Amino acid sequence: MNILELEHVTKKFGSVVAVDDLSLAVTQGEFLTLLGPSGCGKTTTLRLIAGLEMAEGGEIRFGGQKVFSYREGVFVPPRRRNLGLVFQNYALWPHMTVFENVAFGLKIKRMTKTKIQETVRRTLDYMHLIDLEQRYPHELSGGQQQRVAVARMIVTEPKIFLMDEPLSNLDAKLRLDMRTEIKRLHNDLEATTIYVTHDQVEALTLATRVVVMNDGIVEQSAPPSEVYGRPANLFVADFVGSPPMNLIEGKLVAHENGIYLEGETISILTRLPLHMVGRTVLGAIRPEDAALSSTPFPEATLAGTIYSALPAGPETIVQVEVGDQRLTVLHEKTFDMKIGAQVHLFISPEKLLFYDKETGRLISTTTIPS
Ligand code: ATP
Repeated sequence: MNILELEHVTKKFGSVVAVDDLSLAVTQGEFLTLLGPSGCGKTTTLRLIAGLEMAEGGEIRFGGQKVFSYREGVFVPPRRRNLGLVFQNYALWPHMTVFENVAFGLKIKRMTKTKIQETVRRTLDYMHLIDLEQRYPHELSGGQQQRVAVARMIVTEPKIFLMDEPLSNLDAKLRLDMRTEIKRLHNDLEATTIYVTHDQVEALTLATRVVVMNDGIVEQSAPPSEVYGRPANLFVADFVGSPPMNLIEGKLVAHENGIYLEGETISILTRLPLHMVGRTVLGAIRPEDAALSSTPFPEATLAGTIYSALPAGPETIVQVEVGDQRLTVLHEKTFDMKIGAQVHLFISPEKLLFYDKETGRLISTTTIPS
């Protein structure tokens, strides 16, 4: 059974539709990331689930039980929804020690003193905080404070964990450490988690399912590998991936040796079937799926010139001009070509995706024989 369901949920702030007729079902143990640009409605969705906002339409159910129904006038307050919350700004109580912060939720539940001691210690130990239990929040680093916030969330064993950009105040190294901790936490506790982020690496690395949002609606809801490997539409194709996918607009034209995507000044071999000839589409290729060489490739080689080369540790981000089109290539091998140098590109027909120019939707090519 679904542990959480949102059905046709809408929330407006004045004339702004923050969440637009959103439906979403979450099963036990999923780690869902809500990913999207600033203002797309991620936080509002989380707050609606928590009961911190009230929707203007639709229904929200936990394990089949209504916690919100616009039509029936149902609204269960946040404290009775059995959820754990972690926000960006930690929100620890400044006058309480680490121990007291974590113990607070158990005291409210009227647990005995001995049991509280035992449960809090176990949780602090798990979160590597045991040596800090007598410190106050202002005596902790950002990362430590965030670990306390997580400890406080898990200690009461809520049904669902809700996290809103919990790592965005931490530096890059700490963020990576905490990501690892959060992933382990999910693995150990198997708790259903809904995690808001605008950081696509965070969304892809943590999630079992990524929900890409834009303007209050869901653009794609799928496992990370699918969101990355087969973006459902041009919005997702452009938003997920850094550097983003190369998009090449053109018409599908039949030649002797196959169907080509023909742009103004670029022509790329595809594996598309004959019936697609004549359509205007956008071909999409990930920068790591394009190959670069100083000599021509044996087939379907594209001649171009180097526009820029940005070394980034293990790889170099190279921009190549082919006709009037600038394409980005992630080049893993040693790179010693200069700006302006002549190069050759190979775009494997198997790796090319196609989007309909009009609808922006991915054109399914799964049934096309190679
Ligand atoms: P971010 O990543 O910047 O936090 P978000 O995707 O979480 O963005 P929301 O905070 O859910 O987006 O906001 C969605 C829309 O609703 C935005 O246009 C925002 O300005 C608006 N909004 C959110 N909360 C309020 C509020 N309390 N009053 C008025 N408008 C609001």
